[in-house]
Amino acid sequence: MPTNWDFQWVKDVIRSSEIFISEHVIRELLAERVTLGRIISVMSSGKVIEVHTHPQREPFYVALGFEGAKPLHVMFAGSTESGLSVLIVYEPALPMWVDPQTRSRFEEENMKSRKRNCPFCTGIMKPVMVGNFDYRLDGRLYVVKDVPAELCEQCGEKYIRLETARKIETLASAARPEELETVIVLRYPVE
Ligand SMILES: [Zn+2]
Repeated sequence: MPTNWDFQWVKDVIRSSEIFISEHVIRELLAERVTLGRIISVMSSGKVIEVHTHPQREPFYVALGFEGAKPLHVMFAGSTESGLSVLIVYEPALPMWVDPQTRSRFEEENMKSRKRNCPFCTGIMKPVMVGNFDYRLDGRLYVVKDVPAELCEQCGEKYIRLETARKIETLASAARPEELETVIVLRYPVE
């Protein structure tokens, strides 16, 4: 565990605004589970508790920060040259984390077992029913009710099986809406 991590380069990159945010994090922001300010503060003044290196890509880091008693993990990758990518944010909790800095035994065993883990964060997947599942076909947005999915207990990413996706595609192309909802459409301003 890196204890005397030098955050200066991270702070410099943040100042230069070369930060890219994954769609996962955007969804967390839209659901108001986290704020950009909190993410930036964890990255610039939190503590890096894990560094994961990989021969073919840049290392990624897990940083921990607190807002009051509430812990937040921010997983990010990058360098001074390429900027920072914020990959995943989540609140560390059991069964994955005994405390915000310690992965649980259970998790180690789970990772060794052949069970499927979240490809993003290695969290444990559990079957759920998604009340409102957003699906796009030919540029049109469909909201499908009660879709069986797998949910990552840690980062909240959802996965559906291929057969489920095929069924949804068929449903959407037949387009017999149960009901119509109004969607607010905004255009990002050209500067
Ligand atoms: Zn996950």
